[in-house]
Amino acid sequence: MKISVIGPPGAGKSTQSCRLADSCRLDIISIGKLLREQKDVETEYGTPREYMQRGELVPKELVNHLVAQSVKKTDKYVIDGFPLTHSQAEFLIETTEVHTVLHLVVSDCEALRRTTRRLVCERCCRVYNKETIPPRQDGTCRNCGGETGRRRDDNHETARSRLQRYKRNIAPVLDYLGGEIDLYDIDGEASPTEVFRRIQSVI
Ligand code: AMP
Repeated sequence: MKISVIGPPGAGKSTQSCRLADSCRLDIISIGKLLREQKDVETEYGTPREYMQRGELVPKELVNHLVAQSVKKTDKYVIDGFPLTHSQAEFLIETTEVHTVLHLVVSDCEALRRTTRRLVCERCCRVYNKETIPPRQDGTCRNCGGETGRRRDDNHETARSRLQRYKRNIAPVLDYLGGEIDLYDIDGEASPTEVFRRIQSVI
């Protein structure tokens, strides 16, 4: 099984990718996480950190390279957060054997609400929400006991610009993917368990 999960920031991509990985025994290729791990690596385009702090997309040369390297290491995977542009979508079709893309759909208001209330485990990257899925009372991760905290790019201003950028780019991605592979819109405005049930009903 080779799947990709896309959607705006706050749509629940990481949460649902984790559930898919657990239930179908897939490796997770999280583009955001890979980029955070390499945020200070100097490249001819600068460091990933510079783009991520501004809420901009990291140049496709860096991201496509990460995807190409990651899919070589496994034959059962879920890619979290790729493709987000038309050229990334072309790269996905040319370079990987992804056969299904799940497009999580949430309103702008819900996406912003979730992003600005998000807490992430600094060790295992599990995602929490201050209100709906809180970490333990002492702020540690329910999965590994690591510290949880806010991502620097989850402030209101950056979250808003990431959302606007997503909306500018995504229409041609969906048009293109729809003609190439199985593409499913999944209504992401429900509890994680209900959204996962919706995913299971299409895959
Ligand atoms: P995420 O963890 O998915 O919210 O991504 C965090 C940041 O990583 C984004 O704001 C972008 O700067 C960068 N990023 C994530 N996915 C991509 C992608 N497919 N292409 C380019 N940059 C990305």
